[in-house]
Amino acid sequence: MENMDRQFMGVASSGEGLREEKEKQQKIGLEPIVGEKPKTEEELKLINLANAGFQKLFEKYGIEKTIGITPEQVHFTDYKLISGDHNVGGTSNPVEEMIIITKKQEFFSLLEIHFLAHEMAHLFSHTRHFAVIKDGEDGNKDIKLFPVRSGFGLNRPWNKKEKGKIRHFTGFNEAMTEIITTKVLLVISEELEKEFKIKEEELSKSHIGKRKLKYIPFIKKAVMVSYREMYVPIVEEIIKKIAEMKGQTSEEITDQLVKAYFNGESPMLYDIEKAFGTGSARILSYLGSQTPEIEDLIDDYFAVEDLEERKEIMEEIDDLMSDKIKE
Ligand SMILES: [Zn+2]
Repeated sequence: MENMDRQFMGVASSGEGLREEKEKQQKIGLEPIVGEKPKTEEELKLINLANAGFQKLFEKYGIEKTIGITPEQVHFTDYKLISGDHNVGGTSNPVEEMIIITKKQEFFSLLEIHFLAHEMAHLFSHTRHFAVIKDGEDGNKDIKLFPVRSGFGLNRPWNKKEKGKIRHFTGFNEAMTEIITTKVLLVISEELEKEFKIKEEELSKSHIGKRKLKYIPFIKKAVMVSYREMYVPIVEEIIKKIAEMKGQTSEEITDQLVKAYFNGESPMLYDIEKAFGTGSARILSYLGSQTPEIEDLIDDYFAVEDLEERKEIMEEIDDLMSDKIKE
């Protein structure tokens, strides 16, 4: 997708075998999963169409990503075989560069199409990996790759205090992924109507609901997890405030964020701090991987107008977060 050397953090120049390990993981990502059948013509058509949608979006934003996602990277299977839950879902893995979409029926409803575009956005987003290298058996090096950047999402496996408990900007990243998904679906709306009988007016209302598939690498399985679909309104509020502050339109700010999501530019953290006060970028970074209590407080934080009130909410969030780290 990108120049592979640029995908690794820090250790890239010294870390021998990283490229091989990444290629090995990518190959695993191409292998069929439980219950997967050869792709139907309709499935192939949808993958091609979604790729074309992303290419159109990239052209509009002047983003250079010419390699699409191949059908082998996408795995469709019956939802009953994966999640055991009566729900359609989707997940992606940036290390193996694979996507899993569960289907409820043979044809595609908007939900499955939305999931596919959403997960493709994750794979197209700016990604960086971190490698943990240990001495393995037979004198070989044991290499484990972790995604540290995925769009705006940030993991810091090297941070001892966080002990992998905190993933940063997850909610912000999911919200931007949803905003981008809708943009891609609108770009291909004519074809979606013609080929899949999906009406254009449904596209901007579509979202992935409250439950989501999560891929657990160590058991090589995807499971259903709860997912709170509350991040888009918060991010839209932040965008509106930054736009007002800078005398720009919300569309212009959104466009800058869309570009940054794919090319790895910094996502205007300075503007967020300026618009909402010092420490606001940290508060935003907590959104997406916390308890409902903290998530609700973050929602309040960006909704209140009063600066003093916002400060109080920040203290409350910080207290709850430090408890969480101590656990
Ligand atoms: Zn997602």
